[in-house]
Amino acid sequence: MQSEADINEFISLLNDAREHVSYFKELGVEGAPRLAQSSSSSTPSPKTDRGEVKTSQSQLHPISKGPTPAATVVNIPAVPSSHSGGLFHDFSAPTIRIQKSSETFEEIWADIGNCTRCPLYERRTHIVHTDGNRNARLMFVGEAPGADEDAQARPFVGRAGQLLTKIIEAIGFKREEVLIGNVNRCRPPGNRPPTPEEALMCKPFLLREIAAVQPEVIVVLGNTAMRNLLEIKQGITKVRGQFQDYHGVKVMPTFHPAYLLRDPSKKKETWEDLKKVRDYLDVTRK
Ligand code: URA
Repeated sequence: MQSEADINEFISLLNDAREHVSYFKELGVEGAPRLAQSSSSSTPSPKTDRGEVKTSQSQLHPISKGPTPAATVVNIPAVPSSHSGGLFHDFSAPTIRIQKSSETFEEIWADIGNCTRCPLYERRTHIVHTDGNRNARLMFVGEAPGADEDAQARPFVGRAGQLLTKIIEAIGFKREEVLIGNVNRCRPPGNRPPTPEEALMCKPFLLREIAAVQPEVIVVLGNTAMRNLLEIKQGITKVRGQFQDYHGVKVMPTFHPAYLLRDPSKKKETWEDLKKVRDYLDVTRK
């Protein structure tokens, strides 16, 4: 005879499993997703449980963890103070690698201050800083805060953010294990995309955070964030799913979760992109 506690536990497990299946369905995932490997089992099997050939380490061209050649190392320049000239640093030279910095986020944010460097400050409620684990292996970068983020001073907390959380969990991470930020930290009026000038003004702070954390992979969400971060001309539909190099950091462009809410048929492609990230992080896990 089962005790009431056993029955309740069984019901709770069933509910957990149902919830799990429903969010994978929502992501467009068919079949059971593979669980993330534990740190002790870093050698991947050649095939996934769905019979797909897994991407090998050599195919993925992992970022070298060895010493970076001095000639190609630069510090991320500090951002000049408000409204001064010469603000548009070019961070896109392909030979430049982001050097590990010892700056703290608090130091970077102190530099940002009550920023008035671009017109987006005029209508913001809050500056929305990068949020999450400062030792993260994985970072997500969006475009700019929306209304919910502006109100709560945290990135990706609205509907798109809830879907992003499910995406993160689908690849075996907890939201608090990753780092989440935006190219722009102030909400553009009417949720319009930030202009390239506004992005250039804000981006150096993101780069300083990237230099401080040195994530192994950055997932860049949507066209605007991708173009503003990587400074490439092609669109997200062409580039998504292909690892890019950003000064020594691997970047995976994929669709923005807000776009997935408008066109759920694209969740399947996003899942394919995110599986590549998951597999890369599995094979490079120490
Ligand atoms: N969209 C973004 O690009 N960033 C957020 O923080 C929220 C929505």
